[in-house]
Amino acid sequence: MQNPQATSTPSDKITIALSKGRILKETLPLFAAAGIEPLEDIHTSRKLIFETTRSDVQFIVIRATDVPTYVEYGVADLGVAGKDVLMEHGAEEMYEVLDLQIARCRLMTARLKDAPEIAGRMKVATKFVRVAKQYFSEQGRQVDLIKLYGGMELAPIMKLADCIVDIVDTGNTLKANGLVVEEHIADISSRLVASRLALKLKDDRINPIIETLAAAVQSSAVRA
Ligand code: AMP
Repeated sequence: MQNPQATSTPSDKITIALSKGRILKETLPLFAAAGIEPLEDIHTSRKLIFETTRSDVQFIVIRATDVPTYVEYGVADLGVAGKDVLMEHGAEEMYEVLDLQIARCRLMTARLKDAPEIAGRMKVATKFVRVAKQYFSEQGRQVDLIKLYGGMELAPIMKLADCIVDIVDTGNTLKANGLVVEEHIADISSRLVASRLALKLKDDRINPIIETLAAAVQSSAVRA
């Protein structure tokens, strides 16, 4: 990102950006263990801002891919997003302060089962264009990247691409579409990120939250 105009949060509250969707369900218990719970049901409400049991802390609930943007501009002090999202976004103006060890999965390449080897330039469909570009260029492999926003498995079936780069959890989605995993690019889990600005200006209030969350992660790892 080019020189973000770092702005301070509108209120003096600590603002924590949470990712909608599957990560949210696993994130809330960690914050609850750290004594921060939304005052209403995040899953059923259509609101985007939630007061919490701590009057000085609020949650905003946004798309995972928007979390790094809110944090790097300093509008959210803390954020929770998958490592895949952070890698694709590029993490400037923020620090990854904690591995929450939730929503674990892998970023992999996959292709049709029994597909022949590609002799020339490979066509790769993915929503992780930046990560894929870096991965293949580090290996000196020339590929054509095709940006998609979902349903990557369809691309090799429809001959749009030779292979895909995508998130794999159980592998069931790939299997259901006749694909097999090939290369492992990265292990993924959700991370807590902190804005550089917040760590500078609100460190006395941010650091205890990070420490309590770290303890909550530790004790849920012990229970698992
Ligand atoms: P699976 O069939 O269990 O391998 O899940 C595959 C699909 O679920 C992927 O295409 C992803 O879109 C999604 N997915 C699985 N785990 C995660 C995760 N931790 N974070 C985001 N998306 C995920």
